[in-house]
Amino acid sequence: MPRIALALALGLLAGSATSAPQWLVHAHLIDGRGGADAPLVDIRIEDGRIAEIAVPAPRPGALDLRGGYLLPGFIDAHSHIETPAAAHRALLSGVTTTRVLGDAYLKALATRDLVHGGWVEGPEMLVSGGHIRPRLGEPFILSFPQFGRYLDAPLEGADNVRAVARAVIARGADVLKIGASERAGLASTDPRRQELSYEEMRAVVEEASRAHLYVAAHAHDRNGANAAVRAGVRSIEHGTWLDDETLALMKARGTFLVPTLAIMSPLGDPRGDSAEAIALQLRTRAMMRPLRDAVRKAHALGIPIAAGTDGDYGEGDSARVRPPHEIEELVAVGFTPLEAITAATWQSAKLLGIEQRTGSLAPGLDADLMLVERDPRIDTTTLYEPLLVVRHGRVAVNRL
Ligand SMILES: [Zn+2]
Repeated sequence: MPRIALALALGLLAGSATSAPQWLVHAHLIDGRGGADAPLVDIRIEDGRIAEIAVPAPRPGALDLRGGYLLPGFIDAHSHIETPAAAHRALLSGVTTTRVLGDAYLKALATRDLVHGGWVEGPEMLVSGGHIRPRLGEPFILSFPQFGRYLDAPLEGADNVRAVARAVIARGADVLKIGASERAGLASTDPRRQELSYEEMRAVVEEASRAHLYVAAHAHDRNGANAAVRAGVRSIEHGTWLDDETLALMKARGTFLVPTLAIMSPLGDPRGDSAEAIALQLRTRAMMRPLRDAVRKAHALGIPIAAGTDGDYGEGDSARVRPPHEIEELVAVGFTPLEAITAATWQSAKLLGIEQRTGSLAPGLDADLMLVERDPRIDTTTLYEPLLVVRHGRVAVNRL
C-alpha cells in the first residue's frame, strides 16, 4: 500500500486524533487529587487507560514530555456545549469531560451521541434534559411537543413537573437540571426570585433517583437555593445569594457548589447600549461581590466546589470562558492554584460520579490528560495552552 494511503487508513494525518504512544516520559505529575508534590514520572497508556506510572527510565520510542507538567484533562462541570464544533473546541482547550446543563436538549444529546460514536472529536459529555422550570421555553417544547400547553402557560404543580421529568429521563438524559431561581443572563428575568417550589423540586429529585440520576439546581436566590438543597439536589449551580443557613445545610448534606464565576466577566461587559444591555451589565456587576463572598464562605466551610464555566465554547467573546479562567477566578477568591486545579478535575469527577474512571491520574483510570509547559501551581496562565491533550488514550492535541 502506498505510504499516504496507509497513513489515511490509520488516521495518522495531522489534525486527526491518533492513538497515544505507549509510553509518555519525563513529566512532572500533578495527579489532580491535590497531592502536594509533582514527581518526575513516565506513564504508560494501554487500551485508552493509564496502565502504569513509573520512575523515569530509558524507554526507546517513547514520547518525550520534556519536563512539562502532566495533569488530568479538565472536567467542565457546567457547560452549554451543543454542537460538534463547540465540542471540538472544548477538547482543544483541554476539556476531556463536561457536564452540559443546556436548554436546547436535542442538539446537546445528539452531539453527545456523535462523540460516543466516534464521529466527532470532543469531550465525554454528560447531558441534562433541558432546563425544567416554570417557563420551559420554545427550544424545550420543540424537543418535547407533547408539552405544547406550556408554550403559553407556566409549568406548575408537582405532578405536572414530575411528568416533564419523566419525559426528559426517557429521552436519555444523564442528569436533570431544574430552575430554583430565575435566570441571570437575561435582563427580563430576576435571579432574586425563586422559580420551582420545594414540592416541585422534590418531585424531580424523586424521579431522578428512581432512574439512578441526580439533579442540578440553577439557583441564585437564597430561598430557591435553600428549597433545592432541602429537596435533595446534588449541586447548586451559581449560588449567588447563598445564606449561612443554606451553606450549613450544604455542608451537612455534601451538596456541591458550582459557582461559574468565569461567565460573569463577559456578562458584565457592555454589549450595546440598549436599556436591556445596560440593565444586564449593571446587575451582573452587582452580583459579583455576593457570589464571591458565597464561594469564599463555602470554601472555608469545606463544601465541595467544582469548576464549571457556564460557557458554550462558541466563537467570539465566549472564548474567554474556559476552565483556566474559572481556575483564575477561584484563585482570586482564595483557593490555592492546586485547589483550583483540583476543583476542575477531581472535584468535578466526584460531582459527576465518575471519579472511579477519570478526573485524576492513577493506574486503571482513563487516559484523559493534558500537558502544560510550566508549573501551573506557580503560573496558572500556562493552562490556557496545553501542549498535549489525550482523551481515552487518543491524542487530540500535540504541540510538542
Ligand atoms: Zn448554565
